[in-house]
Amino acid sequence: ETAALFARRRAHLARPQKNYYAAPPQIERGWKEHLFDVEGRAYLDMVNNVTILGHGHPRFAAAIGAQWLRLNTNSRFHYAAITEFSERLAALSPDGLDAVFLVNSGSEANDLALRLAQAHSGARNMLCLLEAYHGWSAASDAVSTSIADNPQAPTTRPDWVHTIVSPNTYRGDFRGPDTAADYLGMATPVLEAIDAAGEGLAGFIAESVYGNAGGIPLPEGYLKELYAQVRARGGLCIADEVQVGYARLGHYFWGFQQQGVVPDIITVAKGMGNGHPLGAVITTREIAQSLEKEGTFFSSTGGSPVSCVAGMTVLDIMAEEKLQENARTVGDHLKARLAALIDRHPIAGAVHGMGLYLGLEFVRDRTTLEPATEETAAICDRLLELGVIMQPTGDHQNVLKIKPPLCLSIDSADFFADMLEKVLEEGW
Ligand code: PMP
Repeated sequence: ETAALFARRRAHLARPQKNYYAAPPQIERGWKEHLFDVEGRAYLDMVNNVTILGHGHPRFAAAIGAQWLRLNTNSRFHYAAITEFSERLAALSPDGLDAVFLVNSGSEANDLALRLAQAHSGARNMLCLLEAYHGWSAASDAVSTSIADNPQAPTTRPDWVHTIVSPNTYRGDFRGPDTAADYLGMATPVLEAIDAAGEGLAGFIAESVYGNAGGIPLPEGYLKELYAQVRARGGLCIADEVQVGYARLGHYFWGFQQQGVVPDIITVAKGMGNGHPLGAVITTREIAQSLEKEGTFFSSTGGSPVSCVAGMTVLDIMAEEKLQENARTVGDHLKARLAALIDRHPIAGAVHGMGLYLGLEFVRDRTTLEPATEETAAICDRLLELGVIMQPTGDHQNVLKIKPPLCLSIDSADFFADMLEKVLEEGW
């Protein structure tokens, strides 16, 4: 029955919308960090970075249901929720970043941020990092350079996109935290080529923590210096906080805090709506105003009363249930458990990240760091049999993408580490 339904999915849901597994369980219910299939089997969901409050949160469901019954419309009307939610997002952001656009997804937020940078600077050229993902819409896809997500990226890139090497301090050309100057040196020829063309620079977009490879911190001082170089050319600095931001790091609310920088534009989505489509662009009033040169901005569903209530309820519940604190304490505990695996299992090369934004990197050889791609896929398949949902990430698909709901309990973190250790002991 599960297999037959899956076959029907393949008949009419366009195939590029891939599934995590070749023969997936049919899930029908979720509770906190667990999902349950139609046979009642529980799975620990360690990859869902959207449902940050946890699955099936009753208060969240009640709040959006009640708002739907009372009123739902669009941002051209005047209602309290949109005012209150924008105020709360501005209050969460650094001083000066107090103009909010409300959209429905991370891709939309990044598209709008790129458009704002181009409108503000009067230039087209955008700088971005290699191995990054920023979305599927036309402009966000153009700056999405990860060949794992889009193998065609190197050949389909428009001429306004300029890429620089991602400072992967684990397996890149330069290793360790003190490599900012080396990686900035690799960016210099790209910046000089932009200067030589004489068309200016609109901006730079990046995640403030290197997400694709499992949350490797950028080298110390890297973003500070790169932001200065971009600003010296009239460009704006965009922090893509869609995945890394909104309390997931535990130690910080925003990813850019980890680098000690303040961006000109913040983009956010995913967890801020706990699965309800919701995204935002947060910037200065002056930058926001630059869009008026082109007209106004409107999204039919962005900033609806239901979306705003969803967003505010997420913030309320995050505060009451101390989810950022939980991400920090459970994340620190889990990171220590994963680090212990490195001592016992040669395939575990390194654990990256912080809070509930972790990556365990599998290698065939500790010296060459040859990625253990097939092994990582086999480990994820075996974890499913043991009741854990886990997927590979990274351009080599050899990093475990550990980004669970922020309500993850210590017991669940231990269960995950125990099951992983069991798989590593069994072999794959
Ligand atoms: N930016 C980053 C860093 C992301 O991880 C994602 C989603 N994986 C996006 C943007 C795009 O967000 P969405 O899928 O909501 O369009």
